[in-house]
Amino acid sequence: MGSNYKVKYIDRERNEEVEIPLEKMVEILLYMETSPDFHMEALKALAIVIRTNLVRSSKPVEGEGFKDILDSNYNSKYMEKFKGAVEATKSMVITFNGKLIDAKYHLVCGGSTENAENVINNRVIYLRRVLCNYCENSPYWKNEKSFTIDEIADLLKVKFSAMDLDFSSEISGYMENIERDEHGRVRSIKVGNKYFTGKELMELLDLNSTRFTLFPTEVKFVSRGKGHGLGLCQYGAEKMAQEGYSYEDIIKYYYTGVEIKKYRFPSIKEPLFGKILVIDPGHGGEDEGYKGDKLGLLEKDIVLKISLELKKQLTNLGAEVYMTRERDENILVTERIEVANRIRPDFFVSIHMDYFPSSNMQGCQIYHFRGDFEAQALATSILKELKAQGIASRGIKEGNFYLFRGVSVSSLLIEIGFLSNNEEEARFAQENYIIKYSDGITKGILEYFKI
Ligand SMILES: [Zn+2]
Ligand SMILES: [Zn+2]
Repeated sequence: MGSNYKVKYIDRERNEEVEIPLEKMVEILLYMETSPDFHMEALKALAIVIRTNLVRSSKPVEGEGFKDILDSNYNSKYMEKFKGAVEATKSMVITFNGKLIDAKYHLVCGGSTENAENVINNRVIYLRRVLCNYCENSPYWKNEKSFTIDEIADLLKVKFSAMDLDFSSEISGYMENIERDEHGRVRSIKVGNKYFTGKELMELLDLNSTRFTLFPTEVKFVSRGKGHGLGLCQYGAEKMAQEGYSYEDIIKYYYTGVEIKKYRFPSIKEPLFGKILVIDPGHGGEDEGYKGDKLGLLEKDIVLKISLELKKQLTNLGAEVYMTRERDENILVTERIEVANRIRPDFFVSIHMDYFPSSNMQGCQIYHFRGDFEAQALATSILKELKAQGIASRGIKEGNFYLFRGVSVSSLLIEIGFLSNNEEEARFAQENYIIKYSDGITKGILEYFKI
């Protein structure tokens, strides 16, 4: 899957919008933003970086001339190399805590990359400063640019007070410690590391007199690196690749604590893609729960059957489903809480049964923790879908169970029926009833997430 995933592209020149398959778009951007001279491992790392950003962003890509590249197999000799890097990393993306990262990159860091908060005012855990001397011999390691003082005044819209005839002026670190007589003539001056008399300087530099002031007229700026310095340093990545590091080493060097995964693309067949649920079948092992009056069915067995069927159905719809137990074993409540708090699902769903002797009570009732409106909404949706399956609803109630107090995510406790009711017990003995019941819960969950 994923090969159908397309990226919107707006051609600025022709002012038209087209859809380009994701992997093709990675190829094009790799062509635009890197060099075919780059080592294969560096190109692979950059292909993954570019793909991550494309999948993460919902915005269309804007540019000019991409379509020409697409149509004409432009410079096909080079394209083959980019294609190779893209194919070798097909569908791979960078994640942190299971989520796609903002995979920032730049040309040359100039010695170390930057912490995110220093550039984008936002602390991003995986965009940390790392030392990088890999880019030392790159074309942009060092850059020099000179400006006259007039140009600087003009570009920055500033004025320099030293431009007034000010006899106290000095150029710190270059020409300083100037002593003058009462008429403004220089008696002594330190130039660099040496002292001169005014007369010496006049003679050596062929000045007209010792009554002089200093004005700098040009400043040279020497900068190191090119770009914002966040995330991956392209020329650093290239050098690492030359030194034998893999694309994985390179990515994990520049992005702190990340993982590389094959991305699963959501589809119509998987409407619950990206949702995480923990299902908690009550009881187990020597803790049997309630026991049916007529057939002697045990709560621990029925809730496990329903839970396993739920897991199957929800997984088929793309959800990520975890269970506190999948066998007949006793699990402590504290362990169940620990699972919920570790996985941090969208919902934690406990399945139990009820018992009310000498009554005809039957049907489903759902508990949620006081104030948990998400859980309340999900409970409403589930009861509605169960009703559609012909299962009686006994409503929604607030519960203050130890389990609810310990679990730090939204949670429900579903009492699926009464083992004290002979007909209800008999229904739970049938395989299709288990499937039908689970189907009702699944549909309720599906409906809830649709909104
Ligand atoms: Zn670098
Ligand atoms: Zn129970």
